[in-house]
Amino acid sequence: MTKASSNQPPPLVDYNLYDADPPLSESLEREGAAWAHDLIHELGALAGTEQAIDWGFQANANPPRLRTHDRFGNRIDEVEFHPAWHELMKVSIGHGLHALPWRDPRPGAHAARAAAFYVWSQVEGGHGCPVSMTYAAVPALRKQPDLAAQWEPLMTTLDYDPGLRVPATKKGVLFGMAMTERQGGSDVRANTTTALPVGAGGVHLLTGHKWFCSAPMCDAFLVLAQAPGGLSCFLLPRVLPDGTRNNFHIERLKDKLGNRSNASSEIALEKAWAVMVGEEGRGVRTIIEMVNHTRLDCVIGSASLMRQAVAQATHHTAHRRAFGKLLSEQPLMVSVLADLAIESEATTILMMRLAGAFDRSHESTEANFKRIGVAIAKFWTCKRAIAVVAEALECHGGNGYVEESILPRLYREAPLNSIWEGSGNVNALDVLRAMQREPDSLAAYFEEVLSAPHDSRLQRALDRLKHEIADPDGIEFRARGLVERMAVALEASLMLRFGEPAAAELFCASRLDGEWGHMFGVLPKGHDLKSVIERHRPRLYGEG
Ligand SMILES: Cc1cc2nc3c(=O)[nH]c(=O)nc-3n(C[C@H](O)[C@H](O)[C@H](O)COP(=O)(O)OP(=O)(O)OC[C@H]3O[C@@H](n4cnc5c(N)ncnc54)[C@H](O)[C@@H]3O)c2cc1C
Repeated sequence: MTKASSNQPPPLVDYNLYDADPPLSESLEREGAAWAHDLIHELGALAGTEQAIDWGFQANANPPRLRTHDRFGNRIDEVEFHPAWHELMKVSIGHGLHALPWRDPRPGAHAARAAAFYVWSQVEGGHGCPVSMTYAAVPALRKQPDLAAQWEPLMTTLDYDPGLRVPATKKGVLFGMAMTERQGGSDVRANTTTALPVGAGGVHLLTGHKWFCSAPMCDAFLVLAQAPGGLSCFLLPRVLPDGTRNNFHIERLKDKLGNRSNASSEIALEKAWAVMVGEEGRGVRTIIEMVNHTRLDCVIGSASLMRQAVAQATHHTAHRRAFGKLLSEQPLMVSVLADLAIESEATTILMMRLAGAFDRSHESTEANFKRIGVAIAKFWTCKRAIAVVAEALECHGGNGYVEESILPRLYREAPLNSIWEGSGNVNALDVLRAMQREPDSLAAYFEEVLSAPHDSRLQRALDRLKHEIADPDGIEFRARGLVERMAVALEASLMLRFGEPAAAELFCASRLDGEWGHMFGVLPKGHDLKSVIERHRPRLYGEG
């Protein structure tokens, strides 16, 4: 008979993800969103339950299925989801993760929503896609006030009401977006989907193909298509007001590396009914409002993946022994864990600082900081999440590599944030564009970084940056290195201002002072690493 296991950690379940995350709760307060404490505390408790964790596993083990036709041969273009997906969605929508700042636009609302989205996404990332797109569609839709008046009330209810029905009859609706085509995703100006004007009120018929269209069971989509006056943005509902289905045909679902709970599809539009949003020929300018918000969510998603990975790694190593000691007491593991922890802390603080800038974007400096900060953070945090998750997985040894652990799912999810909503290079180039066309954004960046207490290492990094930026020679070729250094300097300044002092010191000593390797776990000697790790280690209920 097999003996009971020994030296295996207890599962990381029955804990509150919010209580276990001081950098998050501190940031929530700092960004003026302490009023949301109860909401996020409740989500943190729920996210730590066996039930919610199981929904995450179930939704990924049972991916969505495409049903193109009903049993009578009628085209239906529906996707079926496992009940666990619907449970996850119900929690997200029920807690306003898709709409909080639009429902209750008080100071700190974006920061509150960011914290809530970050906590709940740690259970399962895939279902965040339609939640994020619905949140992000609102500011784009507001470019067309009559449409916003009609749709926004439905997009902001707390009712998750799945199924394709006439939108006006539903308790709540969800939005997606369809920009990417076979011949070009980053370069959306290459879109060939056509929009034929057919009547008053901006009504057009759209014909073409979209190569990636996630969450196709959403009620409506913002779509880019070529109108007579150029590339324009359209609102395309799946069901028309008379109850008939729009000519939106799902050709197949993508077989993806990760993000498996979510459906991503290829769609064909055949004279599909749509109505223009914003000005004709200014489609990119209209939809960029949506893209900016989904880019913020890529930062939140990356922070959330890092945090969950660090929580798992600090928990595992605090309970597993090797060579006569807990792993968390082995000097080399201490170096790895502390390095991961400060990366996660810096990302959480950066994410909350950015969300705060969305809240304060009526102030010009904040709007300028947001403009460049989102691109910098999207570039860097999405890249770092991949490395953090891989290293945290390795902290578990073989246990991290098996599907019963959440680590393989985090690992497969991580690269996605760096691809969609503008891949790495596209974001690095967007930082250059911001610097060149909107120089106030660069000034706001330096103002932000210089607001940290003086630190000679940070000052040297900024001097180097100024020098690099002033030299136009080969700047596009150098963009990745430049944006990486901008991101690290920004994180260092935020850590100096708001991080735990030992963590901030370690961050600057490693990331700015050259005593660092090309992987995690290469830290300078002589720092208080244990306290840094303990700050990031989650405690199960009743655990000391
Ligand atoms: C799971 C998933 C879901 C998605 N869901 C949606 C969705 O719902 N709606 C939607 O519209 N799209 C969606 N996308 C598409 C996604 O936004 C695109 O894949 C992305 O924008 C990149 O476009 P592309 O695939 O055409 O790659 P390309 O544009 O061909 O880019 C390929 C590579 O070249 C780089 N590159 C591009 N231009 C330059 C340049 N000038 N200089 C240097 N490098 C450059 C890019 O950074 C990238 O690394 C989804 C993608 C995935 C993977």
